[in-house]
Amino acid sequence: SPYIEVKDLAVSYDGQRLAVSDVDLEVGPSEFVAVLGPSGCGKSTLLQVLSGLLAPAAGTATIAGRDVTSTAGAAPRIGYVFQDHRLLPWRTVAQNLEIVLSAAGVPRDQWPERIDRYLRMLRVEAHRDAWPLRLSGGQRQRVSIARALAIDPAVVLMDEPFSTLDEVTARQMRQQLGDLFALRPTPVLFVTHSVREAVFLADRILILTPGPARVLETVTVDVPRP
Ligand code: ADP
Ligand code: ADP
Repeated sequence: SPYIEVKDLAVSYDGQRLAVSDVDLEVGPSEFVAVLGPSGCGKSTLLQVLSGLLAPAAGTATIAGRDVTSTAGAAPRIGYVFQDHRLLPWRTVAQNLEIVLSAAGVPRDQWPERIDRYLRMLRVEAHRDAWPLRLSGGQRQRVSIARALAIDPAVVLMDEPFSTLDEVTARQMRQQLGDLFALRPTPVLFVTHSVREAVFLADRILILTPGPARVLETVTVDVPRP
């Protein structure tokens, strides 16, 4: 059964105009699915519903069989990577990871090892005690990916994580993220307006119409990676 399942989803911010209309999607337990669509079509809105921040006007969204809009039971852990890293500037890199580890209920004695492991995985261990604003855009996004993975999430949601980076940095990050998730059976939903990123990273691509988002088609990626 799919790990992330969205059925007939519709979302409206003002109760009149739809931001998302009739979206269906499924992500398998170790699948990397990209959602591709133009800016403003409703991609972030979809991720906000999946992370429980926004209630749909119609339809259902479940993660690991659990309704994301329900507050009953333990919520599945979601690793969220924002377009703008959203690191707290008054905390060091390590302290930014501590916040999510604490919120996820990871025992304190495991924090140092977790933090070291994930900062090393994203190649930013040298910046453990640095202030986020001292880092480059690419390094900040690496920290933000480390933060998302450090809680051992049930699913990872990524919202255009490379769109603010320069071309060279974005290409490096894309490559590294591909390697990372090839080794890691975590379901990922990755929204982007970049065809290049979607084709490079995803097992399957969902193409959305210009807003309100509907699924135009689903493409299985079986071409050699560019
Ligand atoms: P992108 O198109 O790259 O997703 P946007 O500039 O559309 O970025 O959105 C950035 C932020 O502004 C998001 O958090 C989004 O929810 C919010 N936002 C976008 N459009 C509106 C709007 N019409 N009214 C209020 N907030 C909005
Ligand atoms: P995308 O992520 O694909 O760029 P969004 O999900 O940010 O698109 O936006 C989808 C639509 O919803 C847009 O028309 C946007 O202006 C609108 N929207 C997004 N966030 C808000 C908000 N907080 N309030 C009102 N409208 C919003």
